[in-house]
Amino acid sequence: MEALTPLYEVNEALVAMGAEKLNLCMQCGMCAGSCPWRIVDGPFNIRRLIRMAQLGVEGYESDDILYGCTTCNKCVLKCPRGVTIIDVVRAMRAMIAETGAIPSVLRTATGSVHSNGNPWSEPREKRTAWMQGLDVPVFGEGTEYFLFVCCTSAYDVRSQNIAKSMVKVLSAAGVSFGVIGEEENCCSESVRKMGDETLFANTAEKNIKLFKEKGVKKIIATSPHCYTTFTKEYPDLGGEFEVVHYTQLLARLLEEGKLKLSKTLDKKVTYHDPCYLGRHNDIYDEPRALISAVTGGNLVEMKRIRKESLCCGAGGGRLWMETKPEWRFSDLRIHEACETGAPILATACPYCISMLEDSRKTVNKEDEIEIKDISELIAEAL
Ligand code: SF4
Repeated sequence: MEALTPLYEVNEALVAMGAEKLNLCMQCGMCAGSCPWRIVDGPFNIRRLIRMAQLGVEGYESDDILYGCTTCNKCVLKCPRGVTIIDVVRAMRAMIAETGAIPSVLRTATGSVHSNGNPWSEPREKRTAWMQGLDVPVFGEGTEYFLFVCCTSAYDVRSQNIAKSMVKVLSAAGVSFGVIGEEENCCSESVRKMGDETLFANTAEKNIKLFKEKGVKKIIATSPHCYTTFTKEYPDLGGEFEVVHYTQLLARLLEEGKLKLSKTLDKKVTYHDPCYLGRHNDIYDEPRALISAVTGGNLVEMKRIRKESLCCGAGGGRLWMETKPEWRFSDLRIHEACETGAPILATACPYCISMLEDSRKTVNKEDEIEIKDISELIAEAL
C-alpha cells in the first residue's frame, strides 16, 4: 500500500459518483469478516477496496479485485458506520467503465443490452420464444398487472420454466395480468452494478416510457433483481409503479383463498434466500409460507438462512464472469442444502437457479438434490 500514490481527486470523484458515505469508514474490517469471499479464501477483500477508494489510490482495476463483489449486501448490514459499500463499489466500477476498461465478458453483456435489450446476446425477437404453446395474455387496457419476465427467464432454457409456471399459477388464481413482449428491455439492475451508469439510465428510461405508454400501474417481477431496481432506482428516473415480487403476490393470494393447491408435495424442501429478495428487501416469510403450503409444513432450513444466507455468487455482474471452482459460493450452498437431507432446494430468483443448477452438476449431486423455483413448485401443486 505504501508504494501507491494517493490521488485525492479520485476520492472526491468517487464521492461525487454516489459513494457519499465512503469516508465514514474506520477500517474496522467487519465487512471483510462477513464477506462470502472470506469463506472460500479468495482474493477479493472489501475492506482493502474501501481503503483504496478512500485514499484514491489506483491498482484496484483487476477483475478479481474490483469485480469480485457480488453486491450480496451482507457487509452493508454489518457495517457499524453505515457505509453503503455497494455504492462505493458501483462508483469505482463506473469510474473504470468511463475509461472503457471493464472486463470483456461484461462488455459483451452490456453491448447486448444496448443492441438487443437483453444481456444474453439473443435477438429481441426471441424474447417471447418461451410463450410457445401457452396462452399468455397481452397487457392492455383494463389489465391489472404487468408480468415482467426477467431476461434470464425469457431466454435461458432452464429458467423459461419459471415464466411458464408463473403464467399457469396466475391464470389458475384468476389474476388479471399480461405481458408486453419484444418491446421490453432488460431492467438493467446488473448493468448498473457492472458500472455502466449511462446504459442503465437509458435502458431504464426506455422501459419507463414503454410501461407508461401501455398504461402499466402494477408490476409483478419474477426476479428479485428486477424488483429491486423497479422499486429503488426507477422512481428516481420518473418510474413510479406498484411493484410486487411474485412470492409476495402468491402468498397473499394463498392466504385469501384465491390460489388453491390440489396436491401436497410429500418431500422435504429446503430454501435458499436470494440476496436481492432477503438482505436487499427483507422478503423472508412469503417464500417460506409458499413452500410450507406446498409441502404441508415440510420446509427444512439450512444452517445459513435469512440475513445470514450464503450468496449464490451471481450478483453484481458475476453471473457473466468465470469463477474458479474453488471460489464458487454456489458449490458450498449445494453441500449445505444436501446436509439437510431435503431432495429439493427451492429458491425464488433466476440468477440463483442458474448458479445452483451449475453447481449441482459440478459437485456431482445431481442424484441427490433437485433445484426448483418456488413458482415451479406451486405450478406442480395446482
Ligand atoms: Fe469500513 Fe464499514 Fe467495512 Fe468497517 S465494516 S471496514 S467501517 S466499510
